[in-house]
Amino acid sequence: MRVSGTDELERTSDVDSLPPQSTDDVLRESERGFQRLLETMQLPAMILGHGATILFANDYLAQLLGYPRDHIQSMTLYDLVSVRDRTGAAREFTDRLRRCDIDHQFEVELQTSRGDERIVTWNSTILQDASGHGVAVVSIGIDVTDQRDEAAQRLHEALHDGLTGLPNRSLFLERLETAMGRAQRHERYRYSVLFVDLDRFKVINDSLGHRMGDRLLMEASRVLRECVEPQDTVARLGGDEFAIVLDDLPDEDYPRRVAERIHDAFATPIALENNDAFTTASIGIALGSRSYDAPEDVLRDADNAMNRAKAKGKARYEIFDPSMHKKAVATLHLETDLRRALERNELFLVYQPIVSMRDRSVVGFEALVRWQHPTRGLVSPVEFIPMAEETGLIVPIGLWVLREACRQIAEWTSTSPEPLYVSVNLSSRQLSVPTLVSDVMSVLEEFRLSPNRLKLEITESGLMENTESAAQILRKLRQAGILISIDDFGTGYSSLSYLMRFPIDTLKIDRSFVKAMTSTESGNDTLELIRAIVTLARNLGMEVVAEGVETEDQRIRLEALGCQLAQGYLFAPPLSVEKAVVVMENRRVPESRRG
Ligand code: C2E
Ligand code: MG
Ligand code: MG
Repeated sequence: MRVSGTDELERTSDVDSLPPQSTDDVLRESERGFQRLLETMQLPAMILGHGATILFANDYLAQLLGYPRDHIQSMTLYDLVSVRDRTGAAREFTDRLRRCDIDHQFEVELQTSRGDERIVTWNSTILQDASGHGVAVVSIGIDVTDQRDEAAQRLHEALHDGLTGLPNRSLFLERLETAMGRAQRHERYRYSVLFVDLDRFKVINDSLGHRMGDRLLMEASRVLRECVEPQDTVARLGGDEFAIVLDDLPDEDYPRRVAERIHDAFATPIALENNDAFTTASIGIALGSRSYDAPEDVLRDADNAMNRAKAKGKARYEIFDPSMHKKAVATLHLETDLRRALERNELFLVYQPIVSMRDRSVVGFEALVRWQHPTRGLVSPVEFIPMAEETGLIVPIGLWVLREACRQIAEWTSTSPEPLYVSVNLSSRQLSVPTLVSDVMSVLEEFRLSPNRLKLEITESGLMENTESAAQILRKLRQAGILISIDDFGTGYSSLSYLMRFPIDTLKIDRSFVKAMTSTESGNDTLELIRAIVTLARNLGMEVVAEGVETEDQRIRLEALGCQLAQGYLFAPPLSVEKAVVVMENRRVPESRRG
C-alpha cells in the first residue's frame, strides 16, 4: 500500500471530527476516495468502458499481469484473456455487462506477460450517467489461481494412477463413455478398446523385486503411450493390466495394427538398472458398436478377448466377437463341472488302433479321453482339454489318463509276448510339471509295464512353446526308454532342423494334410510335402503315422509315398474297451470297418 494512501486513510478515519461540507463537495471527495481505494487495494481492480476497453487498472492488477499500468490502460479485456479460455468466459462477461446483468461473479483466465495464466473472479458494479445509462463497469477481482491449481491437483490425483501417471479406471471409463456418446451421434465415428495384460509381470516382480516391478510398469506404460495417438487414452486399471481407448479409428483394421505395434514394441527388452527384462503382452480387442450400453460392458468384452489371447499361448491378440461372451459364461459352468468330473468317475478312455496300411495289422492304440457329462452327454476333448489346460486341471486329468491307459495296456497284453504300445497325449502344460518324469516312471512300475510300451504324444505347437525345458524333459523320458511321438505334425511351422534337437520316435502327419492330399487345389503340393516328411523321417530313423485316414484313395496315395502306418476311420474309429479287446486279440482291424 502506498504511503499517500495510508495518510489519506488516516486523515479521514475520524469521521466525527471532519468540518461540515456541501453535498457536492462530499460527492466529489467520495469519488476521489473511491478512486484512491481502487488504486491502493490489495486486489486486482479495473474499470471497463465500451467495447471492454480498460479505462483504468490498478497497480495490483498491473503487477499480477506483469504489464505497466499505462500499457494495460490502452488494451481491451479481450487482449488480456488467455488463449486457453475456451469457455468464452470473457466474452460472456462483457456481454452481460453490456446488458447491465452483473449479478454474477465471473471467472476469467488472464494471460500474463510472463506467459502463464491467472484465474481471477470478478465482482462488478455498473457506473451510470445522470439519465441512468450504464457508462462503465467497476470490477474488483480475487486471484483464485492457486486454489484452482490445488483443486485441479486433487482432481488429477483422483483420476490418475499414482505410479505411472496414466489415467485410472474411473477416468478410463469416463473417456470410454465419451467415445460411446460420439458413436451414438456420429454415423462414421468408430472407437475400440484394447485390454493389455503383461504376460510375465508376476515372474519379474517376484524374481527381481517390487522396485523393478514398478520400473517395468512405468516403462511399459511409456511404451504403450508411444504406440498410440495423442487423442487416445492409455489407462492403468491396476496390477499389470492396462486398457486403451482408440479414438476415431481411421479404419476397421486399425486396432489390430496397434496391437501388432505393441507386440513389436515389447520385442525390445526393457532396461531396468542392471537387468534387461523381456515382457510380452496379451491383448484383447473390443470393437465399439452402438449396441453397447455401458462402458463396463465394452471393457468386459475386451477383457474376455484378452483371456482368450492368453489361453491361446500369450503374446498375441484376439478380437472379441459376441459369441465369446456366451462362451465365457458356458465355459464357466463347464469348468466347475470338470473339476468334479474326476472324482465322479465321469472320464473314460477310448482306444483308436494304429495300423499298418499294408495288412491292417495293429501296432498300437492311441488312448483318447472322453467325458460323460451328467446332463450334457458326451463332451468332446476338443472342448474340454483346452479348458483343462487353461485352468491347470490338465495336470490331474493327464495323470489319470496316463495311469488308466497304462493299466489297460498292461491288462490286455499281460499274456501276450507281442509289444503293442499305447499312445498317450501329453499337454504342453504337463511338460512344466517338475515331477512329470518320476510320475511317469512310477506309473510304469506300478503296472510292471516296460517303458517301450508307452508312447507319449506331444503336439508340435506344444513343443514350440517351451522348447528348452521341453527338450530336456523329452530327453530324460527317452533315456528311460519311453517312446516319443510328435502329434499334429506340420501345423506348428517349426523348421525340420529344429526338430532334430528333440529325441523323436514317431511323426504323426496331421489329418489336415491327409485331407488336402486328395483335394484338387493343393493336392500336388501336399503330396510333395508328405513325401518330404516321410523321407526325412526315414533318414532320421523315425516312424511316420498318417492321421485321419478316411478313404481308400488316401490310403493308396500314402502307401505310394512310403508312409506305412495310419490311424483313421478307414481302419477303425476310437473304440470302447470292449471293442478294442477284440481288435487286440486278433491283432488286426476287420476289413469292413468304416467310420
Ligand atoms: P489327436 O491326439 O490328434 O487325436 C486324434 C483325433 O482325431 C481324435 O479326436 C480322433 O477321434 C480323431 N480321428 C481319428 N481318426 C479320424 C479320422 O479318420 N477322421 C477324422 N476327422 N478324425 C479322426 P478326439 O478323440 O476328439 O481328440 C481330439 C484331440 O483332443 C486329440 O487330438 C488330442 O489333441 C486331444 N486329446 C484327446 N485325449 C486327450 C488326453 O487324454 N490328453 C490330452 N492332453 N489331450 C487329449
Ligand atoms: Mg494324439
Ligand atoms: Mg493329432
